[in-house]
Amino acid sequence: MAAKSGLKSTPRYKSETWKTKERASLAERKKANSGKLCSVSGCTKKRYDLYPYCWTHSRRYRRYGHPVIKLPTQGELRAIESAIKAWLDNDHLTTKADREAFKRNWSAGQQTIRNHPSFALPFSRLQGHSGYTQKSKGLVILSHYFHRQGHSLSDAMLRYMAVRLWTEFKWRMPEGSRKGFQKERHLFMNTWSGTFVLTNSGFARTTTEDRVIAWERPWYVSENPRDNLPKPITKSVTTKKALDRWSVATTIRAIGDELRGAVEHAMGTDWVSRDHRLLQKASEALGLPHSNPSIHQHFEQY
Ligand SMILES: [Zn+2]
Repeated sequence: MAAKSGLKSTPRYKSETWKTKERASLAERKKANSGKLCSVSGCTKKRYDLYPYCWTHSRRYRRYGHPVIKLPTQGELRAIESAIKAWLDNDHLTTKADREAFKRNWSAGQQTIRNHPSFALPFSRLQGHSGYTQKSKGLVILSHYFHRQGHSLSDAMLRYMAVRLWTEFKWRMPEGSRKGFQKERHLFMNTWSGTFVLTNSGFARTTTEDRVIAWERPWYVSENPRDNLPKPITKSVTTKKALDRWSVATTIRAIGDELRGAVEHAMGTDWVSRDHRLLQKASEALGLPHSNPSIHQHFEQY
């Protein structure tokens, strides 16, 4: 199944003894962790699972990429997107040759995340032990976004750039992290740009259930009290439910990582620092008129 669609599957598991051992050590680590306090300063709750945070903070961390930060708003991200476009038009692409080169690179970037329409599998194919890697699941959702909903991959890449610039000014390292600066920042950026694609992908879980729409009273009175009970009249109802950001967090990040790759394919890896006017415009878009270039230098040290 996986091979047919061109989507990659995870390798099958190791031996049963390996699995049993792994489970035992996991349970032990969870137990040791749950005795400690949440890493967020001021929080007095015990840790959850293997997270360095309590239930509330680990939930926020998994869903939003950070346990406590004030999250980026739609307005902020849209303002930065306009700033990026203004920078491209007014500062970055000044000659005809520049514009043509940019067009070529940008569409080459899009090609890296553009898959055949057959990648837009329904939710049921990804459910349970589908065996697909997170990257493959991410490509499925990207394909829904592009092929089914007709959204532009260019917009998704632009969103990634906006999130990237937002972190330059408003993100900070989460307390208690064991991952390191770059990894945490990537996790945050991938979460926010991946969520943009997921929410616009129309990709949802459909469930069909029998719902009671009315009750039928028996027309006769029986001596058996059970026969006198009203009987439900049911109708089969199909509902579409958006995917939960907690349960698909890893897939969301895989989508974000695809967008990062596409942007870097188009712009190179140093696009944020190459021209200070971009940061200047992004800072103005966030209402921080006196941009402090030292913020940027601070990031460069890592
Ligand atoms: Zn906490």
